[in-house]
Amino acid sequence: MSEVRVRFAPSPTGSLHIGNARTALFNWLFARRHGGRLVLRIEDTDQERSRPEFEAAIVEDLKWLGLQWDEGPDVGGRAGPYRQSERLASYRTAVERLLEEGKAYYCFCSPAALEAQRRERLARGLPPRYDGRCRALASQEVAGRLRSGEAAAVRFVMLQDRIQVHDLVKGDVEFLGSDLDDFVILRADRAPSYNFAAAMDDCRMEITHVVRGDDHLTNTPRQMAVAWALGWEPPRFAHVPLIHGVDGTPLSKRHGAVTLAEHRAAASLLPEGLVNYLALLGWSPPSGMDEVMDLQNLSRHFALDRVSRSPARFDAERLAWFNRQHLRRASV
Ligand code: GLU
Repeated sequence: MSEVRVRFAPSPTGSLHIGNARTALFNWLFARRHGGRLVLRIEDTDQERSRPEFEAAIVEDLKWLGLQWDEGPDVGGRAGPYRQSERLASYRTAVERLLEEGKAYYCFCSPAALEAQRRERLARGLPPRYDGRCRALASQEVAGRLRSGEAAAVRFVMLQDRIQVHDLVKGDVEFLGSDLDDFVILRADRAPSYNFAAAMDDCRMEITHVVRGDDHLTNTPRQMAVAWALGWEPPRFAHVPLIHGVDGTPLSKRHGAVTLAEHRAAASLLPEGLVNYLALLGWSPPSGMDEVMDLQNLSRHFALDRVSRSPARFDAERLAWFNRQHLRRASV
């Protein structure tokens, strides 16, 4: 295997969720296990919701956990810049290229028009997706409307073929391109969409494995199609099952503390206790091994083939138990 390069790519739009902390940890463990590199990439293209304070808090939380990265906005690296807001020109250049090659097109549908389209399709029993109407506009009309300053987004011409994701956790998952619509890659305000920016950066930053929550699985065929359209081979993917509360629904505020900051505020929680517990949320060590482990030990044994396909349950009592084991070790 060529050098492993993974990334953790938080959006600085809020505090670090416990599920994202686990994603960061799995990436760190995978990189360490394979002697690879971890990239921290800040996905801050949502100008309204992204805040430097959130980025700083996320970095702080990750450091508290004991995780370090080899490349990132604070440490630099050969694939930078590592904030998407500093890479806007490269997304726009790539979009221009796709437009020239007929792999993307301008869309003038307003939010209200899109909503009307959605409702109309639902009423007809069709899936509520964009119907591709602006793809048919004549180039002269497009040029005229752009010249007159009409707001336009850019959409990607989605592949119509079957797209197979050979997921390292889920196994083979097949998507039909024809079920996916022509999604927006550049918004009317000229900001790239998540699917476009993430797909481009994963290729440009030479990411070999994308390890993330399985709520992103349906984005994967779109991101693969973007990579192919730009002439790159997409990375490999590993979608980790989400964390649920004890009642079996995705972990949310209803279940209590969901951010790392809230857990940190709890008296006497050690980072060692939390990372140990998080590592075992969805991953199990080889049988017969002591489950109480520190980061070094975890990284010696971590492997994607022992990541479960079904959701992990967050159990505060079990976390407390792991924490007690580490408190005891620390006091000895
Ligand atoms: N910024 C995205 C998120 O926080 C990243 C998803 C991904 O890993 O591709 O959900």
